[in-house]
Amino acid sequence: MMRYDFHLHSALSPCGDMDMTPNNIVNMAMLNGLDAIALSDHNATGNVAAAMEVGRSVGVKVIPAMEVATAEEVHILTLYPTLDAAEFVAKRVYEALPDILNQPEIFGQQALMNAQDEVVGYEEKLLINACRLSMEELFRLVTEAGGVFIPAHVDRHSYSVLTNLGFIPDDLDIRWIEVSRRVTDISAYLDSRPDLAHYSILQNSDAHYLEDIAQDGGELDGGFETLFRR
Ligand SMILES: [Zn+2]
Ligand SMILES: [Zn+2]
Repeated sequence: MMRYDFHLHSALSPCGDMDMTPNNIVNMAMLNGLDAIALSDHNATGNVAAAMEVGRSVGVKVIPAMEVATAEEVHILTLYPTLDAAEFVAKRVYEALPDILNQPEIFGQQALMNAQDEVVGYEEKLLINACRLSMEELFRLVTEAGGVFIPAHVDRHSYSVLTNLGFIPDDLDIRWIEVSRRVTDISAYLDSRPDLAHYSILQNSDAHYLEDIAQDGGELDGGFETLFRR
């Protein structure tokens, strides 16, 4: 049994707090008793390598990840077996983002950091827009890279597949879905949504602030490798 929180935003996400640095995130996760986390910034992986480096030094597994906003304005949590795989998909997503610059005073800074928490640059393109990739195109891209495609916070009313499409497309071989922390009783939630009963469920914090990182985390039987099993 491992404890996880696979949906976290760093200071690279404009809405992520500047205190969400690689060291702060990983150390807070360790203090909270988590075995594995994923850094899943909006449409970007620029701080993942630093977080993985910090994770290796303190013994917290950091899974490469990214939260992609698809053309349908649906948020998809994507997790990857390797940094290379994550960066490969991130490059395609970045190319598919509209050429709109961030306005830090409105949206917040998009800080790139190294493993010493030093700001090494700022991403100039606004990362919170929807990219041009459809859910289906993203699914193929992520799956071919060996990653996992997880519709994010499906219970929420904004940027969720159930709100924007009304259903989860069954022509995509989706195995995992994410529910937000607002769902306090997962089995009661699934009783109310029998169409979701055959999915495996992850529950993450979607933390944008250090204090929101999961206290105990979700429990994952069989370790994080089960995510990538096909
Ligand atoms: Zn989201
Ligand atoms: Zn998020």
